[in-house]
Amino acid sequence: MKSLQGKKIIVTGGSRGIGASIVKTLAEEGAQVCFTYSSREEAAAEVAKTLPGEGHFYLKLDVASEESVTQAVDQISTKWSEIDGLVNNAGITKDQLLLRMKAEDFDAVMNTNLRGTFLMTKALSKIMMKARKGSIVNITSVIGQTGNAGQANYAASKAGTEAFSKSVALELASRNVRVNCVAPGFIATEMTHVLNEDVKGKILTKIPMSAIGEGVDVANAVKFLLSEESKYITGHTINVNGGMFMS
Ligand code: NDP
Repeated sequence: MKSLQGKKIIVTGGSRGIGASIVKTLAEEGAQVCFTYSSREEAAAEVAKTLPGEGHFYLKLDVASEESVTQAVDQISTKWSEIDGLVNNAGITKDQLLLRMKAEDFDAVMNTNLRGTFLMTKALSKIMMKARKGSIVNITSVIGQTGNAGQANYAASKAGTEAFSKSVALELASRNVRVNCVAPGFIATEMTHVLNEDVKGKILTKIPMSAIGEGVDVANAVKFLLSEESKYITGHTINVNGGMFMS
């Protein structure tokens, strides 16, 4: 039997990039997936067309808005009475050196990456705790572990998400709800596509495996953490980074 057969799983930011790879991998493993987009509905529709199996759906969500999160959770609850998994994948960057970084760009990154993870986790863990089952996977980043010049806001949001995840893992463990992180290194998506060749070349020299990762590499780690194969793992971070950083 497939490891996620019949499980109902929500993925934020599933319309493209790593999120779209996660959605596809989970559907292939037998899950019913609800995924979200924030602005590009056409991209979400394209992802939906490629999914094997039945019972998948997508909806619009701004994870940084409490109102939008409440609406989305209400919509999901009308379709599903139980939820087995949540993947907090939606994330943004607004890179700038500290002295040039605007407060609104700091806030935007914190609001989407950290506050968004908090809002979604709070709303959905309530349902999981009642059912005494669930697995939450938060997508962090190697940058949250090492820091990076020009990404103080992003690094803080991802390090914060890791600390948040450990705290919530402690709170939810007795209810059989697990909380883990997957920390990707450098993965080929639109987020990294915008970097110029010179920057990409420099990054490659820092990756012991000498290759950029693919969305499916991250998705496979997420799949494991959502399945019963990881039933005794909580509060952990799996690095998917080609050896860039080892913790
Ligand atoms: P992309 O920019 O390719 O995709 C981002 C996704 O998040 C899209 O689906 C987008 O929706 C959605 N999104 C953006 N803002 C919001 C919001 N406010 N509310 C809800 N959804 C939102 O990103 P990646 O696939 O590259 O990154 C996915 C995750 O992986 C992020 O958390 C990122 O920080 C992390 N990561 C990525 C790495 C990489 O190398 N690419 C490395 C390490 C971590 P829409 O399409 O509608 O705009």
